[in-house]
Amino acid sequence: MTVSLPKLTPELSDVASDDPSVEEKVLQERAFVDMPGVHGLYVHVPFCVHKCGYCDFYSLAEPSDLATDRQQVFVETMLKEIHRRAAQVRLEPTTVFVGGGTPSLLRPDLWQLLLDDLAELGVLDRIVEFTVEANPEIVTDDLLALLAARGVNRISLGAQSFSTELLQVLERSHDPVSVANAVTRIRRAGIELVNLDLIFGIPGQTLKMVGDDLDAALALEPDHLSYYSLIYEPNTAMTQHLRAGRIQRVDEQIERDMFAMIIDCLAEAGFEHYEISNWAKAGGPPGANDADESTRTKTVCLHNLQYWTNANWLGVGPSAASHINGYRWKNAPHIGQYLGSLSPPIADYEHLPPARYLGEVLMLRLRLLEGVPCDWLDANLPADDPRWQTIEHLVQIGMLKRTHSHVRLTRAGLFIADEVVGRLL
Ligand code: SF4
Repeated sequence: MTVSLPKLTPELSDVASDDPSVEEKVLQERAFVDMPGVHGLYVHVPFCVHKCGYCDFYSLAEPSDLATDRQQVFVETMLKEIHRRAAQVRLEPTTVFVGGGTPSLLRPDLWQLLLDDLAELGVLDRIVEFTVEANPEIVTDDLLALLAARGVNRISLGAQSFSTELLQVLERSHDPVSVANAVTRIRRAGIELVNLDLIFGIPGQTLKMVGDDLDAALALEPDHLSYYSLIYEPNTAMTQHLRAGRIQRVDEQIERDMFAMIIDCLAEAGFEHYEISNWAKAGGPPGANDADESTRTKTVCLHNLQYWTNANWLGVGPSAASHINGYRWKNAPHIGQYLGSLSPPIADYEHLPPARYLGEVLMLRLRLLEGVPCDWLDANLPADDPRWQTIEHLVQIGMLKRTHSHVRLTRAGLFIADEVVGRLL
């Protein structure tokens, strides 16, 4: 998944229990009342050929024969989960995002099974954006043809960097050439939109190397770029290397210079910076009319917008998170438990108190560069809420800006966005 969301905080849970069936029951009694509508569906495929050094997504790197055997049972179990949820919510998504893991590792016959079932359930009837994540070296023409024929209109490719040296530091298993090959094949298959995931702040990376990555990425004419700074997550090989002194962090000021370079270069190349780490090609897919607003917005990731605007979204598969009307939960990140239970065990569950919920909405909305609508603030933030003063203070020190319609991050605020939005929680 390419979007960063607030971590679930189990200590806030009002029903935390070791027995997953308790939380499932509470969801049925509270979150699923009146069959709430779901606007986005996330499907987590937890298989990878190899574990990248920086990755903390739930994924299993295992020998391909074992993974292949498990895939069938996995897809059948996930379809049961989808059917179960379809009886509890109105599963009418406008966006589907299949992430992982490496979804392009799934066998084509299992993709067929998954897509047939989703279509039969009516889940795909309203879809305007259907994204599948793929690794550049694991994407075949047969799979792309199948996905294109079944309505997938966006592929998100994990490029990360175009430097062989930096890909090795990240412990990625692909080489730079495979990214260009994959983009060519995606276009040839007729899939309309291509996103490239990139990372900056990689140990050993210089400003010039970021410039080279930008040049290489732009030469492929992507419709969208997700460009994240490297995070040293606990329990990753990369963090162990850091602690052991085998690698060194990029200097903080240089990392900021890298971010500034990315912002300026992508603006010059005609990309709209619409979220802290995301850029959409202004003018839409190749051949689109630049002046056509409806086409322009087609390149924004609509699925991730569901997260940032706190819409209702459902995640299926081990470790997948969901949000419905202020209730959030996460499936246990454990394939054995997932395959072995009738309903997926829930690892975390919480219902945010209203004040905290408001803070989360504010925090997510501020990630979008258009900011929070003033109308929304006036309607939702009580007059005596201390966050009005915090907003005023952040405006005064130049981290936020108030326009006639929105409150949004300034350029200076962008560079310390986590700190700024964190004050409004
Ligand atoms: S391919 Fe993606 S999900 Fe798999 S280990 Fe690498 S970063 Fe993680």
